[in-house]
Amino acid sequence: MAESAALLEQAWELSYLRPLAARDIGLRLASAGGPYAAMGWLHVALAEVRVGDATVASDALRRARQAFAASQNVLGLTWCDEIRSIELRRAGDYAGSARLQAEIDGRSEVGSGPMYEFVSHNTRAITAKLLGRNDDALRHFYAASDAATRTGWAGPRIIALCNLGGFQLALYNLEDARRLSEEGLAAAREAEVAQAVVTAATNLINIYHAEGEMRQARAMVDFLVTHQSDLVTQMLPRYALSLALGLLGVGEIDAALVHLEAGAVAAVSDGDGQTLWAWLKARCLLAKGDAPGARAVAEQTMQQRRQRQLQDQPFETMQLHLALADACEAVGDTAAALACMREAHARYEELVGRSARARYVALEVTHELARTQRERDRALDSHRSAEDDRHRLAELNSALQAQIAETELLHVRLRDQALRDPLTGLHNRRYLFEMAPGLLELARRQASPLCVALIDLDHFKLLNDTYGHQAGDQVLLRFATLLTQILRRSDVICRHGGEEFVAVMPDIDGEGAQAVLGRLLEAFQTQQPAEPGRRRLPGGSFSAGIALFPRHGQTLEQLLTRADRALYAAKNHGRARVELAPATGFGTLT
Ligand code: GH3
Ligand code: MG
Ligand code: MG
Repeated sequence: MAESAALLEQAWELSYLRPLAARDIGLRLASAGGPYAAMGWLHVALAEVRVGDATVASDALRRARQAFAASQNVLGLTWCDEIRSIELRRAGDYAGSARLQAEIDGRSEVGSGPMYEFVSHNTRAITAKLLGRNDDALRHFYAASDAATRTGWAGPRIIALCNLGGFQLALYNLEDARRLSEEGLAAAREAEVAQAVVTAATNLINIYHAEGEMRQARAMVDFLVTHQSDLVTQMLPRYALSLALGLLGVGEIDAALVHLEAGAVAAVSDGDGQTLWAWLKARCLLAKGDAPGARAVAEQTMQQRRQRQLQDQPFETMQLHLALADACEAVGDTAAALACMREAHARYEELVGRSARARYVALEVTHELARTQRERDRALDSHRSAEDDRHRLAELNSALQAQIAETELLHVRLRDQALRDPLTGLHNRRYLFEMAPGLLELARRQASPLCVALIDLDHFKLLNDTYGHQAGDQVLLRFATLLTQILRRSDVICRHGGEEFVAVMPDIDGEGAQAVLGRLLEAFQTQQPAEPGRRRLPGGSFSAGIALFPRHGQTLEQLLTRADRALYAAKNHGRARVELAPATGFGTLT
């Protein structure tokens, strides 16, 4: 009996460290029969469902369930249900897995103890991730990590760190991804869990590369090749692309190509690594001067993914669009290059939004908020009995307030990043559509005027074609600066699209807005920017249309439509001018 108890303890400790060893102990317990047999089958099922054979797992699970039912062991049965939710997920039934998990969470009697918490949060996190519920997934991964630490065992902690690091990378929260993966790598090396070492190290190659730390990415390739050569070779198709990425970053193109080809079949066939593969391949071809080849690879891949309706992976897709843009520019197709840049930019916005959100959730959970809160609650309890705790309570309260304020500040800062256009630093459309309803409502309540102006630079395509799109970017930046200098601080200015800008101008009537935009036009036309060491660009011009609230519409959409028509008229009347929308809509019959 005592021996069985010790074996069971060992099985738990090994279950997330060396699952097959835990399974073998489970088999010994199961074949010995007696009160430990059920737990033995449970361990066989847990190991097989995670890393082994689905049929073996389901058979073991059935036996465990029978044995727990016979002894009316409710907690044992709950464990069986947790394993069943993993089974469903591995069979591809994510929704079924989530339903079962929710059902377990609704029961009055659920499992307890750090190991149960770790396993259940970890599975809920993975299921949520597969269902695209990123916030839920992140919260469960953090809860799993907290429970993993409380088990005192290395296995759960390593799994939790690697999972969290990998997921933060997927969310483009590089800062947390890096910290977690470095910690995970150190823990995995110490416990000598080769598979986790390779996972953490390959994640780090991707993270370092995304951070622009090419040397560190390259060093990690070296580390893998020298320390884990057997495993790396064995699992090459899965990791080849990361190795190629690390080599490509420092310009070792031929070596990168070797790994790329080794991983090509796996990457392309499972769809998951396809975009990454194509991005790397296109970059290698570009480096070898084969721009048409790079373009073909990128375009084919994008088309295939559309046809197979594969899920978009924003980071890799952004990189692929950037590579395609460079390829198009290299073959002289500037229009296509710009279209690709815009696609890449849309992905970038999405990524920044994701990462800000992920960072916020990470902070929310890790920022000791919960701990301080618990401490405060404890102090509150003792306060009732001991008067001199009051001082401590006040202290904790102010610490809590400070942390809340700090977290909120960070949230604001991160949100701001997601709402700005990276080229000009102006706000983006997302911000405009978040802000506008409030401004319109305010104008309505105060019965004050408000104008919406749509501004479009004139002949911008020509400028790009003549001077190159970097010069075009400079002009956009210069115009953005002028906008912020000449318009009022209370005006909301945003980059609406390529060379289109929108200003929402509270407290100004149509004539006033026309005058301000007139000054802007004059400044833009007369400015003669000297590019250092380069030819001077001519001063540009723009056309603008203005719509008035509430005369031309009640919502931002309506006002933009009217402003757009006025802009169209301005273009038709010869450009370099500002038009006010007419009092009544076009086509109105009176
Ligand atoms: P119009 O006077 O009728 O507005 O002519 P246009 O050439 O400005 O208008 P069109 O909409 O045909 O072209 C807009 C061009 O703006 C297309 C694209 O080449 C360029 N563009 C869009 N976004 C960017 C960008 O981020 N950077 C650069 N350099 N150019 C951009
Ligand atoms: Mg335009
Ligand atoms: Mg234009």
